[in-house]
Order: sequence, then C-alpha cells, then structure tokens
Amino acid sequence: MALLLGCIADDFTGGTDLAGMLVKAGMRTVQMIGVPKAPLPDDIDAVVIALKSRTIAPASAVAESLEALRWLRAEGCRQVYFKYCSTFDSTPRGNIGPVAEALMAALDSCFSIACPAFPANGRTIYKGHLFVGDVPLSESGMSRHPLTPMTDSNLVRVLQAQVKGKVGLVEQSTVAKGEAAIRERYAVLQNEGCNLAVVDAICDADLMDIGAACADLPLVTAGSGIALGLPQNFRRLGLLGDNPIADALPATGGLRAVVAGSCSVATQAQVAVMRAQHPSFKIEPLELARGGDLVSAALAWAALHIEAGPVLIYATDNAESIKDVQAQLGVEKASSLVEKALAAIAIGLVRLGVGKLIVAGGETSGAVVQALGINGLRIGPEIDPGVPWTTAITEVPSDKPLALALKSGNFGTADFFLKAWGKLA
Ligand code: ADP
Repeated sequence: MALLLGCIADDFTGGTDLAGMLVKAGMRTVQMIGVPKAPLPDDIDAVVIALKSRTIAPASAVAESLEALRWLRAEGCRQVYFKYCSTFDSTPRGNIGPVAEALMAALDSCFSIACPAFPANGRTIYKGHLFVGDVPLSESGMSRHPLTPMTDSNLVRVLQAQVKGKVGLVEQSTVAKGEAAIRERYAVLQNEGCNLAVVDAICDADLMDIGAACADLPLVTAGSGIALGLPQNFRRLGLLGDNPIADALPATGGLRAVVAGSCSVATQAQVAVMRAQHPSFKIEPLELARGGDLVSAALAWAALHIEAGPVLIYATDNAESIKDVQAQLGVEKASSLVEKALAAIAIGLVRLGVGKLIVAGGETSGAVVQALGINGLRIGPEIDPGVPWTTAITEVPSDKPLALALKSGNFGTADFFLKAWGKLA
C-alpha cells in the first residue's frame, strides 16, 4: 500500500511522540533518523522523518526540511505533516514559520494550519493563546527556556513575526461547531489573504474535527495532537483499514540484554530491580579513564551468562558518585567515555546473538543507535507510556531483525526491565 502520511519532525523525541500517536490511531509507522537512506518496509502507512532542526539556523532548517519533503514526495505520500513542539518552541527568526512557508511553497499550497494543541498533555489553545496546564505559555517554565524562551502566549502574534504571509485564527467557537464550520472559516481566511491559521483546540473532540477539516490540505503543521484526527480521513477514503493491528513487529528471536547509561532516578530503581533477579555487570568510568578494557571484560562476562536469560550491563549510579566521577574526569569526558564503552558493548552483544535489546538513557540510546548503524525504527507495542518496542531499520537489511527499546531517563515503572520482554511476540 502507498504511503499515506509523511511527517517531518523538528527533533527526535518529538518524532517518537508523533510516531507513537499514529500507531495508536491505527497507522503502521516507522521513524527514520534523518532523511532515509535505507529502504522502508513496504507495508507501512506513515513515516516520520526526525530532523534536528528546532534550533539550528533557519536557512538550514528550511533546507533540511525541503530535502525531507523531496524524499516524501518521491515516495508518493498523500499528505505532509510538519511536527513541532506542543509549546511551539521557536524564536522570532523561526524555525516554525520559515519551514512551514517553505514546505507550503514547495507543495504549491496556499493555506495551512498551525495547531500545537495536545489537551491530554495539558496544551490547549483558546482565542489563539496557548496554555500549558493552567497557565498561559508566557507564564510557564518555557518563558525561561535557554534556546527558545516563549514570552508571548498569543500564537497568532508569535507566528506572524516568523512569516512573510498573513496569519489568521480559527476560534474555538467555530471549532466547536464541527468540521463544516472549520472548513468554512478556512475559506473565509483564505479570501482575507491568510496563508496560515492558528486553530484553537481545548479537547480531543476539537482535534478530531480539526483533523477532519484538514483532509484536503497538502500540508498540516502541528504538535502531535492533530495526529489523532488525521487517520479517519484515510479511513473514509478506504485507504486505511478500520481496525488494523498497527503495532505488529516482525518476529525477533535471539538473546536478551539491557544496556543502561541513564542515571535518572527511574533508571536507578529499574537497575536495582533487575540486579536483584538477573546477572549484572557494572561499568566504572574511573576504570575506563585508567585505560581498563571494560568492553572486552563485559562481553566475556556476558558470553558466560546470557544463554540463561537476560543480562544487565550498566553505568548507572547515584547522583553523589556521578558528581565525584565528574569532578575527577570532567562532565564531558565522563559522559563520552561511558557512552563510547556502552555503544561498543551493544555492538558486541549483537554479535553474541542478542536480538532483543533495551537501552536506557537518551544520550546513551543516541550513541548505541549510531554505533549499530541504525537508520530508522519500526514502531511496535508500547511497554510503558512513551516507550515502545521497535525493530531496527538498517541500510543493509538484516535477516535477523533486532528488537530495540530506547528508554529515556525518567520513563517506565521500576519493573520495566523485567516486564518488557513479555510485550514482544
Ligand atoms: P538520561 O536519559 O537519563 O538523561 P542519558 O543517557 O541521556 O540518560 O545521559 C546520561 C549520561 O550520563 C550519559 O552521557 C552517560 O554516559 C553518563 N553516565 C552514565 N553513567 C555515568 C557514571 N557512572 N558517571 C558519570 N557519567 C555517567
């Protein structure tokens, strides 16, 4: 089946968030790291291309987004979705406005929406003002963000400062009347010369109606909330099944391992729970700094234990010990020593026959994914909110698929490393 929805996300975790939403809404989805170099599975409905374009120079963000768009169009995708943060992270220079306008121009489209609302996560828009929980965006923690301080809650004003065209507003009183009223308002705004419209949304029903009203737009720009409302459009056209199992992964065999480089409180608890039940091996940063070959030692140790069940290799430690290590080595050196070692261990584990791998830590996951030459992830069943099992997509497809769960720091319950295996077929 042809690709239905092609998404361009301005950062990786935002892309993961969107991919998870699409899978839940019944679309089989892969997330690619940058513009795809590897062939995609042929049975997917949506692709999310994750860029790192949120805070780079606007011209670079535009160029990268256009490259992603070219790839999506070559794949024949029907609709394009530009995904940004639900707190509209940007500055007067961009990058939301310039990227949205460049994508619209490339798609020959003269109108799109801007809607970062995600009511389930406390992001609502009313009369164009974005609220974070109970407070306006400008009174939320985002007003002090180091790179994209959001000091104005009025998204019409914020977006207008970033674009050449005219920005309008679809108010909640219109959204509440449903799809037809929203479409009518789009038409009125276009007649008034608007190219972009901020759309109010305060509940999931609003997102569904906005999504329905966007069926014919070549480009939608939004947070991940609108992903709730788009799959129904493809269903109506008969392009998407009513109840497809969108999170099915190819069967993966092989041995099981956890590699933990996160030191967050949640990961510390998860490591303690797993250590109590399974063999574990600790990577000491000071030993790495002294030149100790802990990679070989860990892999030799793993070879002895891994046939019997899952093993844990971890650098996770408490805040006090980390401070001590960082004081001796410097923060960057400590981090990079540990990341490099854990990435090399991940490669060794896969060579040992690991087919199911959990990685804990955002930066650690990035290092492991890069070391394993992974270009993308097919999104599978969720283990805990925000952490799905995935299978790796590599430039040269492997006959032994690797199942990966990439868990950022504070996600997951204490028994995450124990229960995760049972969620895989
Ligand atoms: P999280 O998602 O919890 O933030 P990350 O992997 O993003 O986890 O970041 C954890 C960082 O801490 C990584 O750079 C990792 O290499 C580093 N690290 C892990 N263990 C230790 C340790 N024992 N001492 C110092 N740094 C460590």
